[in-house]
Amino acid sequence: MKTVIEKTGTNNTLLPTSTAGSLPKPTWLAEPETLWSPWKLQGDELVDGKQDALRISLQEQQQAGIDIVSDGEQTRQHFVTTFIEHLSGVDFDNRQTVRIRDRYDASVPTVVGPVSRIKPVFVEDAKFLRQQTKQPIKWALPGPMTMIDTLYDDHYKSREKLAWEFAKILNQEAKELEAAGVDIIQFDEPAFNVFFDEVNEWGIACLERAIEGLKCETAVHICYGYGIKANTDWKKTLGSEWRQYEEAFPKLQKSNIDIISLECHNSHVPMELLELIRGKKVMVGAIDVANHAIETPEEVANTLRKALQFVDADKLYPCTNCGMAPLPRAVARGKLHALTAGAEIIRKELSL
Ligand code: ZN
Repeated sequence: MKTVIEKTGTNNTLLPTSTAGSLPKPTWLAEPETLWSPWKLQGDELVDGKQDALRISLQEQQQAGIDIVSDGEQTRQHFVTTFIEHLSGVDFDNRQTVRIRDRYDASVPTVVGPVSRIKPVFVEDAKFLRQQTKQPIKWALPGPMTMIDTLYDDHYKSREKLAWEFAKILNQEAKELEAAGVDIIQFDEPAFNVFFDEVNEWGIACLERAIEGLKCETAVHICYGYGIKANTDWKKTLGSEWRQYEEAFPKLQKSNIDIISLECHNSHVPMELLELIRGKKVMVGAIDVANHAIETPEEVANTLRKALQFVDADKLYPCTNCGMAPLPRAVARGKLHALTAGAEIIRKELSL
């Protein structure tokens, strides 16, 4: 079968590979294999260090043959907190303990007044990445629902109201990222796998507010979280079939979001759930981020083959299940190579 490849505007390769977002940082920049790892540098040295790490992370993706590259989230400490740190209305000294995604307790900052974006958060970093490569670039932002779940709200007293405020702020940032040359803006919404009623009542509407007026492609990443203990323990309680995606998919299929990024490999997500988002581009997680075993190319290819039953070939984007920040660097590197080798097996099969 010879597949005619639709030019997507971001990529004209069949099965373009990418990662969900984060990659490990060098040990001279931050403590390895740790979330919320403190920086080891300060001031101008930290600014330079982050840029150097971004360049290395980009180079590692390129050497592995990744088609849609990212900053590896080298300039942020955490995928949610770093964005919030740049906003006014949030007091980082006034901390409360809350339950994150109904799963684990964390000490989080407090919303004490109206939230607003006083200055761009990642725009300079995105411009820097844009200068380094002509390849399509993807930039990740936290989604509104996941942001409110990582805060204590002492001002709006309404999860929905706060989420709408964040959606407006994210839209401002997204428009500037687009202007900086970002090809795909991705919103990370692991909370979509937990708060189903809210997802359908206002979660997806907030996400659409965040992408309003964008001309670049947009993605939402919904996963079962990093491979940290709180998440792996939670996964053990989910039974043999993980049908959480079933809750948000019908509305997402009708939404204006272009791409849906999902966890598939080694998970108990029934692959036929992908039928519910038929027509959307799907970033299929074919790399497990919760263990250190490097997938064989054939294992990756197997997951992609299963996904191809429910996703048209021109809409399938091989990806990782989630970010790889907590993994050892050599493991993450090995997994990137496995991803591209697995995608290549399927490309050959499709061109036969
Ligand atoms: Zn994830």
